Amino acid sequence: MAADLRAITGIDVPTALLIGGQWTGGRAGVLPVIDPATEDPVAEVASASVEDALDAVTAAHDALPGWTRTPPRERGECLRRAWELMIQRSDALARLMVAENGKALRDAKAEITYAAEFFRWYAEEAVRNEGSLVTAPSGANRIMVQHQPVGVSVLVTPWNFPAAMATRKIGPALAAGCTVVLKPAKETPLSAFAVGEILREAGVPGGVVNVLTTVKAGPLVAAMLADPRVRKLSFTGSTEVGRSLLQTAAQTVTNCSMELGGNAPFLIFDDADLDAAIDGAFLAKMRNGGEACTAANRFYVHDAVADEFSARFAERLAGLKVGPGLEEGTDLGPLVNEDTRSKVASLVDDAVKTGGRVVTGGQAPERRGYFYEPTVLDQVPADAGILGEEIFGPVAPIVRFTDAGEAIALANGTSYGLVSYLYTRDLRRALQVAEALEAGMVGINRGVVSDPAAPFGGVKQSGLGREGAHDGLLEFTETKYIAVDW
Ligand code: NAD
Repeated sequence: MAADLRAITGIDVPTALLIGGQWTGGRAGVLPVIDPATEDPVAEVASASVEDALDAVTAAHDALPGWTRTPPRERGECLRRAWELMIQRSDALARLMVAENGKALRDAKAEITYAAEFFRWYAEEAVRNEGSLVTAPSGANRIMVQHQPVGVSVLVTPWNFPAAMATRKIGPALAAGCTVVLKPAKETPLSAFAVGEILREAGVPGGVVNVLTTVKAGPLVAAMLADPRVRKLSFTGSTEVGRSLLQTAAQTVTNCSMELGGNAPFLIFDDADLDAAIDGAFLAKMRNGGEACTAANRFYVHDAVADEFSARFAERLAGLKVGPGLEEGTDLGPLVNEDTRSKVASLVDDAVKTGGRVVTGGQAPERRGYFYEPTVLDQVPADAGILGEEIFGPVAPIVRFTDAGEAIALANGTSYGLVSYLYTRDLRRALQVAEALEAGMVGINRGVVSDPAAPFGGVKQSGLGREGAHDGLLEFTETKYIAVDW
């Protein structure tokens, strides 16, 4: 028996597919949504078939000419109204997110604010799609450049930021004049539906935003990518799935933006302000319960400050209240599902076997729900398996270093390159290290880098392209060069 979503959130939450402006049942049955804190169902939502997906592509394709012709100011106004509605409804949306994802209410509220901000930012960017005009070096003609909407876009998003990963794509797509089919993760469809409903209420015409949930992500996304009407894939998720989608998209040479996995190093030098470093480490590790692509995954700490950092950081984590996300005072909710928890547990067990020392935590508490204790592991050997994989949980492995060059080499010794963090009081060192780190983003004396106004994205196997900022708008455009003589 599913829970009463209205009682949890105070709003009516759609549980059907959004296709062509209508909420409709799916042709592939239903999909249960599980509360990670209780392991009980919270809802059943429609599951889309391949035919439903192609209907959504048709709806997006039919809506494209009208939306592209809609004045940028009007497109921006729709996004601006969507921002207002999200803010008005933030409490309900945050509670809904906790019910399906498990995160602490405080994290969910922060995500709703962040998610809504993408609508406000791209409401402003909709009217700033600038091109350029220059005289050719030969002087013979002019070079005119404009950025046209790429067209129907398929958006595939993960469960860890169920609202923000959707708005970070929908905002720029709509601002650029594209229409979209959003396919959220099956663990967290409700937040995506709620965002879809908000856009409908904000005046976005039917067919411009379609939302599909499904148990069959692979065939459904492949069918959409094989359809020549689809011109863009914007994916956020694991590197493994991203890699396979790039192969699929290659068949139709579909334009791809990829926001993939991370393995963020967090460097603390001997001259760091340790109070600030502990605050930053806490944010970088524990924001979203560690289930973030930007989560600090490996702490490289100078030997001179490692004892103090390890003890104080462990004390901070040990003081967290672990419990259901909606419970008063909860700091850390459960992980999203059993697979995620067992992966975290096996990485910790393996790190301990290879010489890591548990300073706090180190196991799953005896209770229902997919909980894992906040954990600090010290003196982890630099070649331990846990340092090579995305932990995606509340676990902080510490590796000690004495030589800065060696620490940078270790930080770069991964196929990922999303974000890196470093703490030092020496500005010269900070900037030199920031330049040397192989990452799309670097936090200097900052534990959080995410900002809708900043270009977010990775190098190496962490992705292709950027989201947020003006760059995010350009991802949904094609550059057209017009050679003109007058
Ligand atoms: P995932 O790759 O398992 O799933 C992501 C999405 O892809 C989901 O919607 C899923 O249903 C879909 N999917 C899965 N298999 C598919 C297939 N064969 N074909 C088409 N679609 C498929 O990732 P996840 O477990 O939901 O999310 C966690 C991952 O996302 C982590 O690796 C994390 O680092 C990454 N992530 C990256 C960013 C970023 O901006 N770089 C942000 C958030 C999360």
